[in-house]
Amino acid sequence: MAKKVLVLGETREGALRNVSFEAIAAAKKISGGGEVVAVLIGDTVAEFGAELVAYGADRVITVEHPHLKSYTSDGYGQAFMAVVEQEKPEGLVFGHTSVGKDLAPKIASKLQAGLISDVTDIEGEGDDAVFIRPIFSGKAFEKVKLKGGLTFITVRSNNIAPLEREERSGDVSSLSVDITNLRTIIKNVVRKSTEGVDLSEAKVIVAGGRGVKSTEGFEPLQELANLLGGAVGASRGACDADYCDYSLQIGQTGKVVTPDLYIAAGISGAIQHMAGMSNSKVIVAINKDPEANIFKVADYGIVGDLFEVIPMLTEEFKKI
Ligand code: FAD
Repeated sequence: MAKKVLVLGETREGALRNVSFEAIAAAKKISGGGEVVAVLIGDTVAEFGAELVAYGADRVITVEHPHLKSYTSDGYGQAFMAVVEQEKPEGLVFGHTSVGKDLAPKIASKLQAGLISDVTDIEGEGDDAVFIRPIFSGKAFEKVKLKGGLTFITVRSNNIAPLEREERSGDVSSLSVDITNLRTIIKNVVRKSTEGVDLSEAKVIVAGGRGVKSTEGFEPLQELANLLGGAVGASRGACDADYCDYSLQIGQTGKVVTPDLYIAAGISGAIQHMAGMSNSKVIVAINKDPEANIFKVADYGIVGDLFEVIPMLTEEFKKI
């Protein structure tokens, strides 16, 4: 049966997040030839509608309200539920982002629906779709098939390829929702100044551990990351030692990432770190200890001093 599937389109700092396009591609599979409707929530978001259409949304619905400028589960919950009531979808797809992880369970409980979270791949289409998701901190994958009811999933960034961007036609309409009785209204957001690529969506990550030894020790890693158009990440060891900010932490209690290339420098490979990066497509480990655990998951291992190896890699990449 062809389904109507709603997708949450996410914006951040005035731009659409890539995971929105990946979610549209997932929704296309679930819809089995039905309709994919993207939902944009914010204070002024209509300008992003055409881009979601170009990535495959058949239609876009915007909900704009001054109280929706920043994410709150109450505000977004009310806005999204109003679209659900109007559209009566058979499927829902969110990114497995901090917004998706917060909002999806709330919506699922309101709809009394099941939720398949953190999906990394989909086999088949429509009613035959089988969802693949990591379990046991990424050590195994399970395949989940629904018996019926609403299909509600969140998709992990960088796993499901978006559709080709092309000129497509699709209606962008707005839905007026009275956002009331908010328990939280965010007046102002003060961000830590972060440079460059968003870690959770980066295609290349150069991560440092306690072996980096200092804040200054991260500079060669940053240089290599900049050269490759990537982001710098860290182990908790490096964060605990105050070499870098906790926003860079990757692992069980940090961010879960799946870049095309993960370079781990001076990281021993504790199980809690590997829970956040072991599904990266290519892993390069640099460690002076040949017995380091990180080599067990590495596609390429370099036994050596990161302060020699990283600058050598940077020089070689500069030649390409
Ligand atoms: P270390 O284990 O100290 O390793 C440093 C490595 O650097 C060593 O292998 C050493 O050989 C190498 N090295 C040193 N100098 C050089 C050099 N010059 N060149 C090359 N290599 C060098 N950790 C996380 O990362 N993320 C998490 O989310 C996380 N969550 C946790 C949750 C819980 C409940 C607990 C208990 C722990 C968690 N941890 C997490 C901590 C984790 O167990 C490890 O302590 C941590 O990952 C170790 O960080 P590290 O590899 O940087 O440091």
